[in-house]
Amino acid sequence: MEHNTYVMAADVGGTNTRIAVVSSQGEIHTLIKRDTHCKGGKDEMLSFLISLFKETIKKSQLPREKISGLGIGFPGPLDAQTGVIFNPPNLPGWNNIPLRNILENEFGSPVVIENDANAAALGEWWKGVGVGTKSFVCITLGTGVGGGIILGGKLWHGASSMAGEIGHTTIVPNGIPCTCGNRGCLEAYASARGITDRTRRILSETEKNREAETPLTFKDISHMVSQGDDRILPIIQETGVILGIAVANLANLLNPEMIALFGGVTSLGERLLSPMKEEVEKRAFQKAREPLRIEVAKLGDNGGLLGAAKSILVHLDA
Ligand SMILES: [Zn+2]
Repeated sequence: MEHNTYVMAADVGGTNTRIAVVSSQGEIHTLIKRDTHCKGGKDEMLSFLISLFKETIKKSQLPREKISGLGIGFPGPLDAQTGVIFNPPNLPGWNNIPLRNILENEFGSPVVIENDANAAALGEWWKGVGVGTKSFVCITLGTGVGGGIILGGKLWHGASSMAGEIGHTTIVPNGIPCTCGNRGCLEAYASARGITDRTRRILSETEKNREAETPLTFKDISHMVSQGDDRILPIIQETGVILGIAVANLANLLNPEMIALFGGVTSLGERLLSPMKEEVEKRAFQKAREPLRIEVAKLGDNGGLLGAAKSILVHLDA
């Protein structure tokens, strides 16, 4: 592996965008973080991204030709093969947009587009908690729930870039409605939004609308959990059980060396993780559990960024 290969990496979200120059060793050289300009639609957001890429190159003081390619983690659904974006829920106007072609034309170097959950998985596998494993699954527990699967040291995309959508596997038949239109998905329970919505509903049932009027946030949930508030603990316990069912399913299905949990919901700590682990003990085969390590991811915001860098490095074989 060459020591002097550099790529540009971007972690684009509906709220924040982070762009950096990253070496083939995974060192982050130049990092720029901005609020994402996405409200004005696709064209405004595209020019925002292109100007940020140019600013990052300038700030890095590297000659343009030293940057061999561009890797981007972007909200799905998208096709990683073609680099086309299909209408992400939080990004108005991004329907059937050939982002990879647009950026390759703009910069004249190879571009890889990866969905954000896959990028987070790749980053944690390459430089985070999954280092050294050959089979690794990362579950992203944020506003929604996503996932990425590494098998034999490679990201598994599936036949049409849909692999890893653990958030939309059904855990509770006829359970609560999910944003995808189905019912009882993992995401409807274990995402920050799912936990917050369930708590709001339960509080409004028991406390006669008093608290239902004030919008409850995930921050409030975290606070209630840290205070040991007994109105919230059964909800977190149930969330842990549901997450444990999903983790046990993954263990039995893929028999990975590691399943990592990534994202803001993991900050709920042992109140969530203990019931999750108990459920895995009950449901996964012992032989699948023996090699399995369940860990909390450790790269935080840099996970997606480093994964985006790795996706283009893999493509360049650098
Ligand atoms: Zn769903």
